Amino acid sequence: MTTTAGNSAAQQMNWAGNVTFSAARTHRPDSLDAIRAVLARAERVRVLGSGHSFSDIADTDGELVSLEALPTSIDVDTDAATVRIGGGIRYGELAAAVNAKGLALPNMASLPHISVAGSVATGTHGSGDANGSLATSVRSFELLTADGELHVLDRERDGDRFAGSVVSLGALGVVTALTLDLVPAFAVRQDVFTGLPQDAVIEQFDALTSAAYSVSLFTDWRAPRFTQAWFKQRVTGDGHAAPDLAWATPAAQPMHPVVGVPPLHCTAQGGVVGPWNERLPHFRAEFTPSSGDELQSEYLFDRRHAADALRAMSALGPVLAPVLQVCEVRTVAADGLWLSPAYGQDTVGLHFTWTSDAAAVLPVIALLEAALEPWAPRPHWGKLFTLGAATLHERFPRLDAFSRLRTEYDPHRVFDNAFLQRVLGHEDDA
Ligand SMILES: Cc1cc2nc3c(=O)[nH]c(=O)nc-3n(C[C@H](O)[C@H](O)[C@H](O)COP(=O)(O)OP(=O)(O)OC[C@H]3O[C@@H](n4cnc5c(N)ncnc54)[C@H](O)[C@@H]3O)c2cc1C
Repeated sequence: MTTTAGNSAAQQMNWAGNVTFSAARTHRPDSLDAIRAVLARAERVRVLGSGHSFSDIADTDGELVSLEALPTSIDVDTDAATVRIGGGIRYGELAAAVNAKGLALPNMASLPHISVAGSVATGTHGSGDANGSLATSVRSFELLTADGELHVLDRERDGDRFAGSVVSLGALGVVTALTLDLVPAFAVRQDVFTGLPQDAVIEQFDALTSAAYSVSLFTDWRAPRFTQAWFKQRVTGDGHAAPDLAWATPAAQPMHPVVGVPPLHCTAQGGVVGPWNERLPHFRAEFTPSSGDELQSEYLFDRRHAADALRAMSALGPVLAPVLQVCEVRTVAADGLWLSPAYGQDTVGLHFTWTSDAAAVLPVIALLEAALEPWAPRPHWGKLFTLGAATLHERFPRLDAFSRLRTEYDPHRVFDNAFLQRVLGHEDDA
């Protein structure tokens, strides 16, 4: 059993470089017992996934635990169509291993370099009218609580307790392993269109988002048009074609979502058919951006309000544009996971990739939240937002119930941090 403690430069900051972790030490345990040894000595602990969140969600003034030294197990059960993975595995390596066995994850986020456990903990999602957030693929997971006990939570057996604890914000314990549902491997073609008139996008929103398995609409709100639409279609047999969009222009060459940025790191476009794991993410697994010059926010709400909200964003364009690199609109199917931003409603997500100038971006985020307020948006837990506990309790109706689960699993608040105090409120043991 080994626990290495240290503070390498790479682990003192998140990927975006806007959060410097205040942990006294970073541990890289290589076994469950090594994690238990950290937990036994620590007053406060947080697990760090791949560090791709933009807030202090993973931060602690106690001990930071990285699972990167745990055995990198990826055990595919082809008969059951499931995979059991260790708590430190990232989507890129998982997807390649699963694809090699003729199986697939139903969906992926834009970047394959994020860890599975960290993504599930924040309700991370891809796109697609019929695709749930990534956490909906979790069949069971193993949770090591501060007292050293290993709990196995299973979707079929544990019902509400499972639904309440999958999207955990890292508040319940250390997720040491997850078992995910798989589907047969499938092929995808990706087609990009440019210059879509804004009114047409808004009026035909449902037709557009249902035109492919996964659809992303991009704009910078600088003009009444969407700069790009990305369609990822499942291919069965030979008879496949790009969506029939007479009012938009097929991209003449590969595109990056941010206009003017070279598309080198983007997955193949132009209708070239390829495996699901090389088309569903926007960015290629073989290019690993170790840090990013951007900040992100995202707000998710009932998709029936998409048209009204998009018009409001258009009106806010002059406020957004100076600090905005790109806005991406995606859809996510409703789920029953308590802290999922898609809990209980088919959802539209408005994602904002900002410039890295936090001082300029934060006031715009507050204005954006005010503009979206009529549609009661839920924030992406891993991105920047300013909404406080009272508002979040209104928008996530099971947040109180989650706090009770938290009291059960972590009665001494070993996994507490400033982020949780802000979003759950100080008196959160309702
Ligand atoms: C370039 C980029 C692209 C992105 N694209 C998307 C996208 O397409 N869709 C989307 O929804 N989001 C997207 N995100 C956001 C990202 O998916 C989330 O921030 C996600 O949480 C990142 O996972 P992580 O492992 O880096 O988490 P971290 O930031 O490391 O941690 C997030 C939370 O998970 C907890 N956690 C991590 N591992 C464990 C564990 N084993 N046990 C218990 N708790 C754990 C941490 O304590 C923390 O609370 C993107 C982010 C970036 C930087």
